[in-house]
Amino acid sequence: MHNWDSTIIDKDIYLRDMLAVNSLGTFFGVSQQVLNQVWAELTAPAGNSLIYVSMEIGADLDVFHPVKSRLEYLGITDSPDPLIDAFVKKVIRGPQKIPNYSGGLGVLAGDTLKSFAACKIPVVAISLLYKKGYFSQLVDSRLGQVAWATEWEPHNTPGLYLLKNPLYPDRALEIEIPFFDDKDHPISTYAQVWMKMEINESLDFFVPELLLDYSIPSSPEWIRKSADQLYDSSSERVRATQRRMLGAGILHLAELLGISSKTLHLNEQHGVVVILHRIADQLLNTLGQDFQTIATDQDIYNAAAQVAQNIVYTIHTPVAAGHDRFSTSIYAGLSHTFCRRLLDLLARDKDNPNVYNFTSLAMKVNRSTNSVSRLHRNVTKQQFPEHADKITAITNGVHHLTWISFAKAEVFDSFPEFHNWQSDPGVFANAGKLLTNKKFRSYLEQAWAHDTKKLMDFVNAMLVRHRQQIHETWIEPPNFLSFLDDKERNLDPAVFTIGFARRFSTYKRADLIFENIDTLAEIILARNQPVNFLFSGKAHPSDEPGKSVIKLILDSQDELYHKSKGLGRLVFIPNYDMQIAKLMVAGVHVWLNNPKRPLEASGTSGMKAAMNGIPNISIMDGWWAEGYHNGATGWKFGFEAPILPGDLREDHDALLYAEDSASFYRLFPELLDTFYNKEKRSIYIDKCIMNLALNVPIFNTHRMVAEYLQKYGISLSGPIEKNIRKFRKLYQSDAE
Ligand SMILES: *Cc1c(COP(=O)(O)O)cnc(C)c1O
Repeated sequence: MHNWDSTIIDKDIYLRDMLAVNSLGTFFGVSQQVLNQVWAELTAPAGNSLIYVSMEIGADLDVFHPVKSRLEYLGITDSPDPLIDAFVKKVIRGPQKIPNYSGGLGVLAGDTLKSFAACKIPVVAISLLYKKGYFSQLVDSRLGQVAWATEWEPHNTPGLYLLKNPLYPDRALEIEIPFFDDKDHPISTYAQVWMKMEINESLDFFVPELLLDYSIPSSPEWIRKSADQLYDSSSERVRATQRRMLGAGILHLAELLGISSKTLHLNEQHGVVVILHRIADQLLNTLGQDFQTIATDQDIYNAAAQVAQNIVYTIHTPVAAGHDRFSTSIYAGLSHTFCRRLLDLLARDKDNPNVYNFTSLAMKVNRSTNSVSRLHRNVTKQQFPEHADKITAITNGVHHLTWISFAKAEVFDSFPEFHNWQSDPGVFANAGKLLTNKKFRSYLEQAWAHDTKKLMDFVNAMLVRHRQQIHETWIEPPNFLSFLDDKERNLDPAVFTIGFARRFSTYKRADLIFENIDTLAEIILARNQPVNFLFSGKAHPSDEPGKSVIKLILDSQDELYHKSKGLGRLVFIPNYDMQIAKLMVAGVHVWLNNPKRPLEASGTSGMKAAMNGIPNISIMDGWWAEGYHNGATGWKFGFEAPILPGDLREDHDALLYAEDSASFYRLFPELLDTFYNKEKRSIYIDKCIMNLALNVPIFNTHRMVAEYLQKYGISLSGPIEKNIRKFRKLYQSDAE
């Protein structure tokens, strides 16, 4: 996978060059020169860099970890230098999870930052560090989902560093964040700062992710508690506090570290409070110290218009739960009166004057708003007609180096048509030339079989483990297969396997294809062809309907198994994360996506499958409306009519279960036929290859960040700009 030669390297010298020091700490993985260069770009007076703001970042090390890969490739396991040795051991043995994400939004943020790093774009990300991450999911067949606090150790996690105070190097850096009580008295609130380095594949650039950690003794107890868990929604106050912890910390942190970025990219509106602080700064500049008392409403609107010049906003969903609204009274205990005046002018909900609507604030104050697919752009314009002019589409992507399996990567490495695929996902357009190449087809099938076996080994071991753990955990195994004997229980990699995994929000309709189990079982029985259904995903702990969908899936297992005489096996894999995602999107035979159109703004898991050549079977929603290519890459089913305002409803009656499941049942026999029928099998492999040819060049984050860069107003050096231009040519999201 790599272009350099391991034999000519002196390992000690090489390792010393992986160590870099500045006044904030000692870092491992990049050279001093790289650290200096990145920091110089982020702090240069011209402000020619970007701050990327996100409530969550998903970038687990077990799916992408270039430093570890490099050490493994070089066969390095230790060093004579004790300091370096400790770093090496931590990289190799340390925990490989950073549970600061809940789903697609966070994973997209991580993938985006990785592509920024690959393309050497000066970006710093700001997010929060949650002491208990996002909840861990246990699944009990009687109870359904059980939420469990996640244990993790930032200190021991490789690539994560607690920044030091440059003035007192034995202390952690602490920054003060402005919180105020209802009498405008400051509430002393502090955060320490962790840095995760998002280092690129060639270890010659990185994007720092700065994670504010409020769980320190100098912050009040209620703030510390609010910092425990991502998307804690135990009360409106906690939810609002979390948003403020992110938004109010950004400018202070940037200032303290000398980060000069002018442009801010809001990945969803969670951190939008930063806009209020930018407006206050602007008023201070124009009106002086007394701005709070002398500013007129018009002054504030003018300042907002100025600030808007440097804000780029990505809206990720048409679903109401994704948009923050807080009652105005909650805000009285968190922020300064002046902040509330800004909210009164810029964020009042148009349907309810007692509510601040953060989406409405983000929509108003920006230079560019983008949705995450073409269809979502059209829906967003309908939802926000007053801003329709500035709403464009930048379709999401995924980071190809993260999601392509090792076995598939080896196949791509061995065909000159894919030369340089690691740094240029556009190369995959050449896959079309290999459509009739027997060697390629057979290599691809072998790699795939390898990935399927790996997935099945994982699932089969899990089924046994669940049974063995009963006495220890008192958890009733989620899959009754756990109780069958070895021969009966084990999933067979030769069996057609459908994968479905994502958050269990109701609009994603995880239970859609089990709407009529009799019909599903009849189809399977009639053809006498076995099918595995692998499902995984978490429901937010306070999402009762989402949790009941999980329970429904569990309750369908037995029925499907018996009605199909053991041919249909439905397995639920608990505690979905990036590692399980990677196993699934590389190992199944088809990826199922059945949201209620048009509520899935984009969806990205199907893109991960496409990266591995796996066809999708999907509702024509989100990215699939762009990735379907008239069936060359997979199958479509379900409701497809033009979108009307009523289509945004989420109540059960509006979710079209009967219509869309019937459509699936009509298509399902064809799917089985293409997989199992020897004469049709080649059609199936054609679709796999066409996924590589048509979808990888489009739905990758290199192309996506290239499109974003057009919105930022950052000027890039010649070679970097040239590279970006190449990716931008791959696709124009906003066309049509
Ligand atoms: C990709 C990914 C998602 C997003 O899946 P969608 O189909 O876009 O909803 C969620 N969770 C994890 C762990 C992922 O890797």
